[in-house]
Amino acid sequence: MNYINEMTLQFESHSINESFARSAVAAFCVQLNPTLDEITDIKTAVSEAVTNCVVHAYPKNAGKITVWVGLTASREIDIKVIDAGVGIDDFEKAREPFYTTKPNEERAGMGFTVMESFMDKVILSKNGERGVCVEMRKTLERRKAAVGGVNG
Ligand code: ATP
Ligand code: MG
Repeated sequence: MNYINEMTLQFESHSINESFARSAVAAFCVQLNPTLDEITDIKTAVSEAVTNCVVHAYPKNAGKITVWVGLTASREIDIKVIDAGVGIDDFEKAREPFYTTKPNEERAGMGFTVMESFMDKVILSKNGERGVCVEMRKTLERRKAAVGGVNG
């Protein structure tokens, strides 16, 4: 994939960073001039993925979360949210609606379902030996990129 612009963020798995991550990703994507609905979808999906790292990946000590975003000239937004935490044994099961390993902590088991419904594609994989990589793609509707954007 040829990206016209890319960025990487890395931060600690503190819950305060959930809003930071979704706002930073949204701000980066603005150069493609997305609709408000598209930006809201992306923010929600990023928020769910990062929250999962904070809540599930590092249950004991805080660890690193990496968020990578790549933009293409054909208005695709690729996002990866990566942790090096405890990992997921069964990806199929984790993606099932209402499946949660933390029912007592007011978790609904809807994070992956939300990501799937707001993004065009969600791929789960292992991040090497440890942790999880959540890869998401959203293709924006056809309209001009923002003035001053990298391709317009
Ligand atoms: P909700 O997102 O509705 O608050 P949830 O986080 O339990 O609840 P999902 O986001 O769908 O639901 O995740 C399903 C399950 O997958 C989690 O309960 C957890 O067991 C596992 N999981 C998700 N992300 C990670 C991760 N980054 N590391 C380890 N386990 C994870
Ligand atoms: Mg979740």
